[in-house]
Amino acid sequence: MSIVVQKFGGSSVADAESVKRVAKRIVENRQAGHEVVVVVSAMGDSTDDLIDLAQQVSPMPPARELDMLLTAGERISMAVLAMAIANLGEEAQSFTGSQAGVITDEQFGKARIIDVTPGRIRSALDQGYVAIVAGFQGVSQTAKNITTLGRGGSDTTAVALAAALDADVCEIYTDVDGVFTADPRIVPSAHKIDEIGYEEMMEMAASGAKVLMLRCVEYARRYSVPVHVRSSFSRNQGTWVTDSPIPEAFRPTQGSKAPAAAVSETESNMEQAIISGVAHDRSEAKVTIVGVPDVPGKAAAIFNTMAATEINIDMIVQNISTREPGKTDISFTLPMDDGAKALEALDAVKTSIGFDHVRYDDQIGKLSVVGAGMRSHPGVTAILFEALSEAQVNIDMISTSEIRISVVTRADILDDAVRAAHAAYGLDSEDDEAVVYGGTGR
Ligand code: ASP
Ligand code: MG
Repeated sequence: MSIVVQKFGGSSVADAESVKRVAKRIVENRQAGHEVVVVVSAMGDSTDDLIDLAQQVSPMPPARELDMLLTAGERISMAVLAMAIANLGEEAQSFTGSQAGVITDEQFGKARIIDVTPGRIRSALDQGYVAIVAGFQGVSQTAKNITTLGRGGSDTTAVALAAALDADVCEIYTDVDGVFTADPRIVPSAHKIDEIGYEEMMEMAASGAKVLMLRCVEYARRYSVPVHVRSSFSRNQGTWVTDSPIPEAFRPTQGSKAPAAAVSETESNMEQAIISGVAHDRSEAKVTIVGVPDVPGKAAAIFNTMAATEINIDMIVQNISTREPGKTDISFTLPMDDGAKALEALDAVKTSIGFDHVRYDDQIGKLSVVGAGMRSHPGVTAILFEALSEAQVNIDMISTSEIRISVVTRADILDDAVRAAHAAYGLDSEDDEAVVYGGTGR
């Protein structure tokens, strides 16, 4: 028997009707002879609603209590879904993250999974139940506090459970048909990627593609879990994220939307396509530290300060200052949410490091083109800059990896930049406009 882990995002279980629809789909899978573990997110936008509620009673809710509150969202959907399944005549049992054996560290709001001990899930399956697990949550190893894994964390729960149970596939059901060459809400001519490797998917996720959380892809790669991202609103084959062939039992069958011809077409495309997709990110801000003494140790002092506040720095640029000889300006990007914290920390070391002042800019956008084919193709970068210049997009910062080029632009022209890059790499498709079924992209 194959083990299938299926994760349903908030937009797939937004209301009673959706829950019933999802329950039907789960029951079909169970009746096809699979052992089914389901991971659910909170219904619709209820996590946001809970955050709003917390903020109404306290501007800075204690992290432990906020986590306790937020895990309630997933508890509601898991129980309701189990009821809907029971109503269809299959037996289901729901489990909190803690009951499912999701053990984490104790960083409230962004806990990391350190172990998964799915004994109770395994025995529920052995007894013939569909096991439903609340996503996005766990229990800390030492103090046994309830934790959450960070926004969008249910994907990671699903992959972690799939790894621990040695599942054949982890299906991530969302409100789009899979991973697209760009966000279909911005680029209507974007098309679905049929297959993508872990490394490219990690770069896409790290660059702002929201369909999968970065940590979930890292996890999938580490444990070689094949991930199938697909829509809960259609029967179409979605995107397979894997470095191996698609497991036999789950290959597209006749009658599904990806006939053999489409598959072989993909194979030939895989050789040609240098760029897999264009990702964008509006969630970062730019900090510029003006007038840093140009002597060894200053960059170290700055980035140690950021590290000590647990802020993840993304792009870094250092420039000779135009203001004074012997001084340099250092710019970097960071999550906008960490902006205030970063400014505070920098202010505290201003005199000891000896810089002039700090500028903060949250009106930036980042565009990234990702493709494993870049490694062996010179000239890929030039195509991007040519396209951006034609679209009158001014570039502020640039960074690259082996398989990615990222640029920072003004936020208000980011959409134009994404469309220009997508077209320049020949990714626009003429047919099949991308379908967006829900509203949230989760
Ligand atoms: N409900 C949580 C969130 O909205 C977790 C998830 O959806 O994966 O972030
Ligand atoms: Mg959600």
